[in-house]
Amino acid sequence: MKPEQDGKAIDVQGLHKSFGALEVLRGIDFSVARGEVVCVIGPSGSGKSTLLRCVNLLEEPSAGRVTVAGTEVTDPDVDIDRVRRRIGMVFQAFNLFPHLTALENLTIAQRRVLGRGRAEAERTARAHLERVGLGDKAAAYPAQLSGGQQQRVAIARALSMDPELMLFDEPTSALDPELVGDVLAVMRSLARDGMTMLVVTHEMSFAREVADRVVFMDGGVIVEEGTPEQVVGAPRHERTRAFLARVL
Ligand code: ADP
Ligand code: MG
Repeated sequence: MKPEQDGKAIDVQGLHKSFGALEVLRGIDFSVARGEVVCVIGPSGSGKSTLLRCVNLLEEPSAGRVTVAGTEVTDPDVDIDRVRRRIGMVFQAFNLFPHLTALENLTIAQRRVLGRGRAEAERTARAHLERVGLGDKAAAYPAQLSGGQQQRVAIARALSMDPELMLFDEPTSALDPELVGDVLAVMRSLARDGMTMLVVTHEMSFAREVADRVVFMDGGVIVEEGTPEQVVGAPRHERTRAFLARVL
């Protein structure tokens, strides 16, 4: 497939994923347009993380086709490291290197993976720390930062690699409630700046406010998708209504 041939950042067709006898994704079709923000909601165990992990091939799909920024990642000949470089990923756990400062956490991959020199990597790192509101924390180690600050460092680290799209897997779920807002504010500003984002979240107010589209998953399938007004405001399916009644 030719790169950049259409406006899709992510295209998933007929995606299945099994772990042994357990079929976790049972035929998923969806796409994310460039610049679009899509929130994935659904009960625990419905396959949301597995879907995200299939997008950057942290899990190998059992069947189906996944295309990211015009490159089919399920093509056996694909250079997956090259594709992953274009995808920023932020997990529930912050996954910072504990023995490196915030600045070093941001420079190491830029230098090793992108081959940037020290000065350029540090300049980029400082700009992104500034952007997430942590310009004064460059020299801090992760243990000296709150969970919310660590997660913002993780977001800045992903951004410092100049990703074409960002995947977020419940980025605020591990945070104390009073720290969630700062992380969501950073994500909101990224969305406003046109970043393509696929976000698994339980933050319904964020989904309502920021998402262009909401996808509700249950039991390894997409039960319904649409605008936040449609899916969160006026769900058509009983399973969606039951889920929303529990989380809202
Ligand atoms: P969600 O993110 O929606 O909570 P997951 O995608 O994490 O759901 O998991 C969906 C199902 O797949 C769960 O039943 C989970 O136990 C199972 N699962 C996920 N990863 C693995 C794995 N590596 N090996 C076996 N089962 C897994
Ligand atoms: Mg999950």
